[in-house]
Amino acid sequence: MSDHYETLGVSRDASAADIKKAYRKLARELHPDVNPGREDDFKAVSLAYDVLSDDSKRRNYDLGGGDNGQAGAGAGFGGFSDLFETFFGGGAGGGRPQPASRTRRGKDALVALRVDLRTAAFGGTAEVEVVTADVCGTCDGEGAREGTQVRTCTLCDGHGSVQQMTRTLLGQMVTNQTCPQCGGYGTVIEDPCQSCHGDGRVRAEETITVKVPAGVRDGNRIQLSGRGEVGPGGGPRGDLYLEVIVEDHAVFTRDGSDLRCTLTIPMTAAALGATIPLETFDGEQGVEVRAGAQTGDTIRLKGLGAQQLRRDGRGDIFVTLAVETPTALTAEQRDLLEQLAEARDETAPTGSAGETRHGPFSRLRERLAGR
Ligand SMILES: [Zn+2]
Ligand SMILES: [Zn+2]
Repeated sequence: MSDHYETLGVSRDASAADIKKAYRKLARELHPDVNPGREDDFKAVSLAYDVLSDDSKRRNYDLGGGDNGQAGAGAGFGGFSDLFETFFGGGAGGGRPQPASRTRRGKDALVALRVDLRTAAFGGTAEVEVVTADVCGTCDGEGAREGTQVRTCTLCDGHGSVQQMTRTLLGQMVTNQTCPQCGGYGTVIEDPCQSCHGDGRVRAEETITVKVPAGVRDGNRIQLSGRGEVGPGGGPRGDLYLEVIVEDHAVFTRDGSDLRCTLTIPMTAAALGATIPLETFDGEQGVEVRAGAQTGDTIRLKGLGAQQLRRDGRGDIFVTLAVETPTALTAEQRDLLEQLAEARDETAPTGSAGETRHGPFSRLRERLAGR
């Protein structure tokens, strides 16, 4: 059997307060609501606390006897099932309802997680600030002012309910009603903690660093178990959900696992053909622009897109060309263009209404006409 002091992670001369503090911390972490599958550890911690929190049991244990807390549990405290109820409510029910626990699991929280496109596409870490509820450090979640105790309710004797006997035609009936003095908790906080007003928790701001899986998109949720709010009475934490919001990128937009961008190129490059450098997430790449390229032409850079979520493989980058008409011509440049227009028989230009002259259909027509 493991050593109770080791189980709680305290020294052999730990004070009663330290033991209680260590127990509450471990019980929160190991509570079956938070950590199913660690019930045995939870029980070991509860047993250790049962022994070490009771002066006579602790003395006995220190002397090497009575290792099992349940052996001497008859007087005062009823073993760790009672302990469980004291802190977390529930347990075996009899005819009479159990008192409500002041300690409850914290709520789940949903927070927006802003990530840049690179992190969303390829994974990484992101930080998020959350406003949450944490255990009150002053009362350690108990709700009573320092140096005072949570008392057993005198009206219901800790049951949380009062029984009423009513005479009816069918005989006597017993009804249970929520105790008006303690509100059903079975305990009364006579002098609430100044820091948390008896709630056992305080508002806290936390910066959480999150691992972002590659390929996440807007609206994806990341669940962080046990990172939500601490519950009332210092109860176990709920879960934290982070909803991904991918920030806009200066160059690329996301289209599933593909990335799209517009590349503006000079008219001469479009006419003559060129290799245009483009900075991608994989470093600089050369975009091959064919001679006679048009605005709207799309060039695919295979496999340079975003990572697929939870799968191997990447999308592509689609580069859409925008041909830039030269402006602010010098006299010499103007002269050259005029010469070009003359050579191309475009001095009295005509346009073509409707479909773009170089749209996909006209290009097909040109090919069929053998031009
Ligand atoms: Zn407090
Ligand atoms: Zn009561």
